[in-house]
Amino acid sequence: MAGTVLVTGGSGYIGGEIVRQLLAKGWTVHTTVRSLSSEARVRPLLGGTPETLKVFAADLTGDAGWAEAAAGCSHVCHVASPLPAEAPKHENDLIVPARDGALRALKAAKEAGAWRFVMTSSAAAIAYGHGKGQHRFTEADWTNLDGPGVYPYVKSKTIAEGSARDWVATQGGDMEFATVNPTLVLGPLASPDFSTSLEAVKQLLSGALPGCPNIGFGVVDVRAVADMHVRVLEAPGMKGERFICSGPFLWMREVAQILKEELGPEARKVPTRNLPSWLVRIAALFNPVIRQVISELDNTREMDASHAKAVLGWEARPPRETIVATARSLIAFGIVKV
Ligand code: NAP
Repeated sequence: MAGTVLVTGGSGYIGGEIVRQLLAKGWTVHTTVRSLSSEARVRPLLGGTPETLKVFAADLTGDAGWAEAAAGCSHVCHVASPLPAEAPKHENDLIVPARDGALRALKAAKEAGAWRFVMTSSAAAIAYGHGKGQHRFTEADWTNLDGPGVYPYVKSKTIAEGSARDWVATQGGDMEFATVNPTLVLGPLASPDFSTSLEAVKQLLSGALPGCPNIGFGVVDVRAVADMHVRVLEAPGMKGERFICSGPFLWMREVAQILKEELGPEARKVPTRNLPSWLVRIAALFNPVIRQVISELDNTREMDASHAKAVLGWEARPPRETIVATARSLIAFGIVKV
């Protein structure tokens, strides 16, 4: 199956990989960037031709460009959303573009007559605000916005997905809406412009951390994340669907161990011992990247991806391969000096 699809945020880590996979499958792709001044940088990374890949300017925070980007598209894959490394000054700096941008994309999709809309949500909309401990989550779970450890990015993704679902229920008509909810996305980079999600591996490789904070995450490969988006765009009967997109849960020290085993001398700065959580709380006072994830300490969040396996035939990649690919990209692009 192939047709014309709008992928928002083609300049991004996940959006770029989705565009590449769709072009390889014969789709005609429209994609958005904030400004056409980035088209010349982005096009060679995405591939395609001027006929198969069309680039439009549209910002999540404004109405300009969305109608043009969606015109002629039967499918929309809404990926763009802010993902900063550091907490914003005000939570609305993330919530407003995430929520209003999703609604802008939905309205443009409906006006263009698109009937399938796939939104990149997040495990952040499922697995937060439930307190410390060992948790296992499915698609039936939602982040508790009033619970502990709900930082602005988590709020932005939860509110954006919730608002999009409400809009579709009341104004979406026959549009088929589904979300893909990934955990921490790692894997190879196409350019030195890297997503915030690679920060943990970057910090391990560069020796920025004296030890491993007791933090863990479900790890999923960017190629598998894009593959799930393509499957949800193409599969029949996706109305209302929600798919956890995750490989296994790994502690940071397990990621460090894999780097040590696979990279040899290039992993010489990688720490393998655990840092006591009290010490990490102190370090967070000085390191804004650690501060963002302080509420993750000592938490196990298992994400059950069996629904995607059963319905879409989707499989995660082995995390070892993903972690090594991440490290090799960070080194090859000179983002980390080892
Ligand atoms: P990324 O590389 O930072 O990409 C984010 C994309 O959103 C970029 O194309 C960016 O455009 C665009 N964007 C941000 N603010 C915008 C605005 N105001 N107007 C228009 N475009 C804007 O991050 P990513 O990892 O690929 O994330 C893509 C999506 O996946 C996001 O929705 C994110 O929440 C979700 N997600 C990511 C992870 C992960 O671990 N990476 C996990 C779960 C969900 P510019 O290039 O112009 O900045």
